[in-house]
Amino acid sequence: MLQKMKGTYDLHDTMPLVHDIERAIQAVSRLFQYQEIRTPHFELSELYHRSVGESSDIVSKETYDFKDRGGRAVTLRPEGTAGVVRAYVENKLYAEPIKPQKYYYVGSMFRYERPQKGRFREFRQFGAEAFGSEHPELDAEVIAYAITFLRALKLKNLTVHVNSLGDATSKTAYRAALKAHIAPHLETLCTDCQTRYHDNPLRILDCKVDTRHEALQTAPKPLDYLTEPDRQHFDAVIALLKAMDIAYTIDNSLVRGLDYYTHTVFEIKVDPDLLGNQNTICGGGRYNHLVESLGGPSTPAVGFAFGLERLMVALEAAGLQGKVQPLYCYVAALDESSVKYAMALMQSLRMRGLTCNMGFERKSLKAQFKQSAHQHARFVIILGEAEIASKTVQIKDQTSGDSFSVPLDEVYSTIMAQLSTASDCETCGHKGASS
Ligand code: ATP
Ligand code: MG
Repeated sequence: MLQKMKGTYDLHDTMPLVHDIERAIQAVSRLFQYQEIRTPHFELSELYHRSVGESSDIVSKETYDFKDRGGRAVTLRPEGTAGVVRAYVENKLYAEPIKPQKYYYVGSMFRYERPQKGRFREFRQFGAEAFGSEHPELDAEVIAYAITFLRALKLKNLTVHVNSLGDATSKTAYRAALKAHIAPHLETLCTDCQTRYHDNPLRILDCKVDTRHEALQTAPKPLDYLTEPDRQHFDAVIALLKAMDIAYTIDNSLVRGLDYYTHTVFEIKVDPDLLGNQNTICGGGRYNHLVESLGGPSTPAVGFAFGLERLMVALEAAGLQGKVQPLYCYVAALDESSVKYAMALMQSLRMRGLTCNMGFERKSLKAQFKQSAHQHARFVIILGEAEIASKTVQIKDQTSGDSFSVPLDEVYSTIMAQLSTASDCETCGHKGASS
């Protein structure tokens, strides 16, 4: 039997939670006025080399690269920012009148990683990118957007970690200080870190192997190397978070793994009891030079990306399962000749917006009632020869247990009347649907 590929998964029984997440994304994005953008799942490999960076873990070890039939070097997107920036430049979105331009995306990303809990080879991200302002307000808004999304999903026990790398001058000064600090310990670091030391020393702080290494624990702090204007930018972001009542922790070891970050970097972590080591559900930061380096006009930008699988695990572990959508009507046909009337009734109810279902297997009434219960149907509508002859149907309200006879052409109005007096269902929050 053919099986799914390692590191991929099928979504079926958790779809109600996926839909809750997608609804929260849409609702919160509207509150913050971010517009959806959809970009291709594959791009020229060069895009990721020029943005994420040659020496990043993603590009050096994790991308799915292939030659297409025309001989082009293609990569399945490992992250969303590069594609959005490419689209921003290619479509001249910088010329749009509304400023700053704010976008969000949801979709699959692909990384060839060792699969484990919270780490897949095809995984989904919800990300945001805001272009056109270097002011700290945009950094703070992006963090507020991410937190408001989690609040909409009722997820608690999370911490926002923030740090700043500053711009070129600060980064260069910090890089030199970090290298000087690491040099005497270089031999004792993992082989990846020995390479990082030469290519991109900041990433040593991001290492998953050497986390407890003494040299990393005592490493200099990026904040101590910020130029005065960069320090002011960071202080302003912090003051804005305070003003918006968003709790945060300053995390001196936070650098983030991609080349393009400048100034603010942040991550949102949930309680490790919920997720274990893979407990970072969101990462983001400012990237003021990426647009220009991909051929656009100099445009500061800031964004984030959530890993949706980790978010789902955290929600489930916190007891926040998705809501099942209600089924209002289950139509039970008693015999062969009633089936076409049942279909006609369902069609007319569905056309008016009521959810309906029926059995398609000619089962006994008892079996049909059992099915209706599996589907959490609020009403069972019974149709047989006698009902058709008298143009009335039997309706059983599964919540109250009441049964009543209703003329066929009053089924819709009767059900609507019943629903309007019902209180919201505790499980799904919808009017009158039984749980
Ligand atoms: P990590 O340090 O866990 O490898 P990362 O820094 O590589 O994460 P980003 O590129 O910042 O991750 O992506 C943003 C978010 O996407 C992460 O915080 C995480 O929630 C999620 N994510 C990253 N890689 C994976 C993966 N392979 N499977 C599932 N989710 C992932
Ligand atoms: Mg990674």
